[in-house]
Amino acid sequence: MNRNIVAGNWKMNLTFDEAKALVEALNTRVVHPNCSVILGVPSIYLSQLQALLSNESITLAAQNCHHKLSGAFTGEISVPMLQSVNIPYVILGHSERREYFKESDSMILEKVNHALSHDLKVIYCCGEPLSIREENEQNQFIGNQLRESILQLDASDMANIIIAYEPIWAIGTGVTASAQQAQDMHAHIRSLVKDVYGDELAQQTSILYGGSVKPVNASALFSNPDVDGGLVGGASLNPDDFISIIEAF
Ligand code: PEP
Repeated sequence: MNRNIVAGNWKMNLTFDEAKALVEALNTRVVHPNCSVILGVPSIYLSQLQALLSNESITLAAQNCHHKLSGAFTGEISVPMLQSVNIPYVILGHSERREYFKESDSMILEKVNHALSHDLKVIYCCGEPLSIREENEQNQFIGNQLRESILQLDASDMANIIIAYEPIWAIGTGVTASAQQAQDMHAHIRSLVKDVYGDELAQQTSILYGGSVKPVNASALFSNPDVDGGLVGGASLNPDDFISIIEAF
């Protein structure tokens, strides 16, 4: 896996025609990027957008999946369903899922395990709320989140995890962590991975920053040694902004 990644998270935005126009723009305008590009698109569009993708640098991610493999869960989407339409990635543990849908660390770990056992790679999100940052407790908080979830995986599974550090106070707020705050946390996360899995796997793990990444701050963030790219919400909906962020590498 390329350690440098720019992933978009479209969330619950765009009609199909808008989504199609965005993929068509990215198909032609993303040329020789220094990173892999992943688009987290609404599930209803996954198959159709997959068929429209013609740029080998770009792949798709689902934004969620259910924590059970099948059953009476009206409206939900399972890991085997994603696998059956060849979706390579799923975003799990996003703070919006944790907050609005009450997803617990154990539920997220169940999802992670299902995804990995069906050959999907996982973009696993972690991040602290503002109150924790104000108390300077962010390192302990993130350590606990990781220990309750992905740090329990076998090394072979951990190799298929991309970590996205997304401080909740920076998501959709226009407030970005400073380049130094991002680097400090990413170095901390890499050291936690190293403690459990050793240096080689820690060095191979992509750790993305998310939280109001924009063209204006992307290169300062990505130039840090432990920031391997971004998970981009709002700015991924605009092709000019998203391409500028990709070109920041
Ligand atoms: C996100 O939702 O993952 C995100 C980082 O959003 P934004 O870039 O809009 O802050």
